[in-house]
Amino acid sequence: MLVALALIVLTLVVWEARRELSLDHRLSGVASEVAGRQVSVDCPGFLRGLLDIRGNGGSVMFDANGKPSSTTHLETSVCHDLSSYGATRKRADFSCVFSTAFCSEKVERAVYAALVLSHESQHLRGIQSESAAQCYAVQTLALVARRLGSPPAEAGAVAAHFLAVSQPRMSTDYSLSADCVDGGSLDLSPQSTGWPTA
Ligand SMILES: [Zn+2]
Repeated sequence: MLVALALIVLTLVVWEARRELSLDHRLSGVASEVAGRQVSVDCPGFLRGLLDIRGNGGSVMFDANGKPSSTTHLETSVCHDLSSYGATRKRADFSCVFSTAFCSEKVERAVYAALVLSHESQHLRGIQSESAAQCYAVQTLALVARRLGSPPAEAGAVAAHFLAVSQPRMSTDYSLSADCVDGGSLDLSPQSTGWPTA
């Protein structure tokens, strides 16, 4: 009886660990593409997740010379929302991202989680300023959304939706500067028209 119980617990622990590893691996690929170098994404996992009470969505450490670490640590809730992004985008109410109305909490959380991954990837690319990282993150949000499973048109809508609906609600540390406009000095593709994507 005790052996059976131990086996069940062990199976659950191994299954959970494998699931987390595959999520970390998938998200690391997305972050590396945005950062332009090999980086990794670390999700807390079940046990650490129980103790996880931070509130920034994610973090990247910078050394005294302004060089970023190669790993971002994401919060439990963000990892959970990224993990379920593919399922969330299949819900009928996800089409709300094509509008500038506030969507259901589930949909807004999926959009926000994608933004956090995009933002931390910008830190990993070497951008230390919160405002600049946020500006670039909004511009690479469509790419992140595509990698999480959105078709191109939907991915572009996700970025435009975040910019219109959620960006104005961000705290002032993450406010976009006057240069964060189409053709501005923070535009990642100054030659092309279209904002925030390309
Ligand atoms: Zn940041």
